[in-house]
Amino acid sequence: MERRAHLDTLAVHAGQEPDPVSGAVMQPIVLASTFAQDGPGNHRGFDYSRSGNPTRQALEKCLAALEGGTHGLAFGSGCAAMTTLLHSLTRPGDHVVAGDDLYGGSFRILDKVMKPYGVLTTQVDMSDLKAFEAAIRPETRLVWLETPTNPMLKVFDIEAICALARARGILVAVDNTFATPCLQQPLALGAHMVMHSTTKYLNGHSDVVGGAIVTADDGLAEALRFHQNAMGAVPGPFDCYMVLRGLKTLHLRMERHVRTANAIASWLEAHPQVEKVHYPGLASHPQHAIARRQMSGPGGMISFVVKGGLPAARALLGTVEIFVCAESLGGVESLIELPAVMTHGSIPAAQRQELGISDGLIRISCGVEAEADLRDDLARALDAATRATV
Ligand SMILES: *Cc1c(COP(=O)(O)O)cnc(C)c1O
Repeated sequence: MERRAHLDTLAVHAGQEPDPVSGAVMQPIVLASTFAQDGPGNHRGFDYSRSGNPTRQALEKCLAALEGGTHGLAFGSGCAAMTTLLHSLTRPGDHVVAGDDLYGGSFRILDKVMKPYGVLTTQVDMSDLKAFEAAIRPETRLVWLETPTNPMLKVFDIEAICALARARGILVAVDNTFATPCLQQPLALGAHMVMHSTTKYLNGHSDVVGGAIVTADDGLAEALRFHQNAMGAVPGPFDCYMVLRGLKTLHLRMERHVRTANAIASWLEAHPQVEKVHYPGLASHPQHAIARRQMSGPGGMISFVVKGGLPAARALLGTVEIFVCAESLGGVESLIELPAVMTHGSIPAAQRQELGISDGLIRISCGVEAEADLRDDLARALDAATRATV
């Protein structure tokens, strides 16, 4: 079933069978830290919950199926997944190539955790494939590919980048958090691994912090599985259950996130108080053609620049009533934030400017509320921004 079924069916069923004892249709939450052995060393597949847990295993199988991989590994956060991946596959002296516009926490891992350990990273705008190639060194071991990016929503050509990397024996890991397997399947495009912050769309209800890695490569899976256990950054069974539960509606939620974001992005682009809209679904987006080719929908995230800079942006965020001013993304509720002050405040101002993260840049995560209500909310907030400007 799991190989042939559509993603919508896998999201509901993959990795899960009715409980053989009770018939319960939902995965039991197995809280036990240890498992009885029939004799010393003779167990039924589980011995200690850091090494393996039935609830976590169901989630790992479901995630693997959704990404078209054969091995799934769950972690206590997206950052834990990334740190474990980097420590599994790089050694001091190795080099990483990453995009220039990265999730802040990913940048911090590369800069503050891996660099002191002796693994250096070069950041480059990967929409320029020549610049990407020029960033590769003889010691480059891994490409860290985040697309669409945060918060500028740049789209990088996964297939082209994987082909260039594979020709040189370099591994590619794709952070698929923004797109989800519903909209983008990096393994099918040539990536070796997919990483997720399950905190976002996969759980989808803003009530779990979690992470995951999926691969179809047995050797990589073995190294990752060893480090998952050895480094120990595993999620608890309750959190695994919550993500499994969230996954059952992933395809339904993504459909609505995309529909609403498409409508709101077009509406924002026509608004006189809006200077610029960054959304891969708009024809004006510089990588619109790549997005159409490699994604089945442009996602639920939009960023836009409000005219009037910081005062206008603050007035806008102070006026919204349905959008919640908060970091994070991918939940059923719509969120709004100011990257320069909030999620990307730790990036040096000069680098922010270079990337286009101006004081008037606003990022929204479109939830599943009625689109008309969200638009009305933004319309009132943009009126307030206009008043704050004059
Ligand atoms: C949130 C996020 C992460 C980090 O995940 P946590 O679960 O917060 O540790 C990594 N990449 C992207 C794109 C994210 O949005």
